[in-house]
Amino acid sequence: MLTNDQLDKWDRENFFHPSTHLAQHARGETPTRIVTGGEGVYIEDRDGNKLLDAFAGLYCVNVGYGRSEIAEAIAEQAKELAYYHAYVGHGTEASITLAHMVLERAPANMSKVYFGLSGSDANETNIKLIWYYNNILGRPEKKKIISRWRGYHGSGVMTGSLTGLAAFHNKFDLPRAPILHTEAPYYFRRPKADMTEAQFTAHCAAELEALIEREGADTIAAFIGEPVLGTGGIVPPPEGYWAAIQAVLDKHDILLVADEVVTGFGRLGSMFGSDHYGMKPDLITIAKGLTSAYAPLSGSIVGDKMWKVLEQGTDENGPIGHGWTYSAHPIGAAAGVANLKLIDQLGLVGNAGSTGKYFNDAMKAALGDHVHVGDVRGEGLMCAVEFVKDREQRTFFDASDKVGAKLATALVERGVIARAMPQGDILGFAPPLCLTREEADTIISTTADAVKSVL
Ligand code: PLP
Repeated sequence: MLTNDQLDKWDRENFFHPSTHLAQHARGETPTRIVTGGEGVYIEDRDGNKLLDAFAGLYCVNVGYGRSEIAEAIAEQAKELAYYHAYVGHGTEASITLAHMVLERAPANMSKVYFGLSGSDANETNIKLIWYYNNILGRPEKKKIISRWRGYHGSGVMTGSLTGLAAFHNKFDLPRAPILHTEAPYYFRRPKADMTEAQFTAHCAAELEALIEREGADTIAAFIGEPVLGTGGIVPPPEGYWAAIQAVLDKHDILLVADEVVTGFGRLGSMFGSDHYGMKPDLITIAKGLTSAYAPLSGSIVGDKMWKVLEQGTDENGPIGHGWTYSAHPIGAAAGVANLKLIDQLGLVGNAGSTGKYFNDAMKAALGDHVHVGDVRGEGLMCAVEFVKDREQRTFFDASDKVGAKLATALVERGVIARAMPQGDILGFAPPLCLTREEADTIISTTADAVKSVL
């Protein structure tokens, strides 16, 4: 086994880490953590630390770490057939079974699943399918896609553009057209303090409609949104939001893409966020919870309405020119089948709802009155604590205060991993869906202690 020093040296010399301050890391100013194992909600590192992972990796290890059922399914698939492609009618028992299992769990009126590898490539697929759809329908102008400020939809060229967070655009020259952004459904940062939640919802719907009318509905193809904003700050929608948005989209014949990369397969206490909020999506993006990240796999669930047009398109134009070498990779599919079975067997969707409520209520009780806490919010097993400079005046910390990063560090020093969300003043929690109440209590008391030490 390599020594820690050797690994540390190679890490700084050779390894290009995603979403990392490259220069600081190369200079040795930020730590390298070599993760060696995991069990339940805990991970272990090479220095012998055992950490309660209250963010499930990147909100993806939904069944928790160390599940031998999934490891064995992967090993069996790898021994039997590690790879074959899915082009022109090829498949494996695992990929066909997984498509069936996904559709059994999906909201109504969904027809097929296209498998990719990451949330980003699934959203790239969605964009192409939306454009193809409108070309087949003879409306080549109807191509723009509306996303929300603070939405996160990936890091590709187009999906990075959909992402409405400046940190992911900075210096990349991502294409602006044909992507438009509208108001984030972020009640805590509403434009006027005296707005009620219902008024804010009406404001979001009105902003969307004004944008559509300004651009012309015949140029707008689709609207994409996460049922609960994730990376943008873990923000559940204000009351009545999705019904109000859906009404605007229906009126202007605009498709809805529900990006359920985080919320799919139980995180909110329902199998899908779309069902949780009564959304009627035409496309659903899935990834993370599909395999609990035991192997990379994503998908685009395509609704009946679009599917009919895609079939018509291939009758008119020949096979659809879209495919990845690793679409429906057998190992990912085997992991997905074992993962979805485990979610059912362990009742994790129900647990996300009940333990999630306990967790959110207890976090609010522990920190809601703190002088520097502006908002504690969440749904299912997603929770955010937003810190403010002054509660009464509603003044906010600057990015340079690095409050989130300091708090996340204080938490790790105490044995808990939470995520400093990109905005800089929000701590995010999205633990594995197998979280117990005792583990929830540990996260909350550790957070309270970390807050006491930093603020
Ligand atoms: N969509 C949402 C809502 C996400 O949260 C993410 C990643 O966090 C993505 C898409 C992109 O997924 P990936 O990182 O697998 O490309």
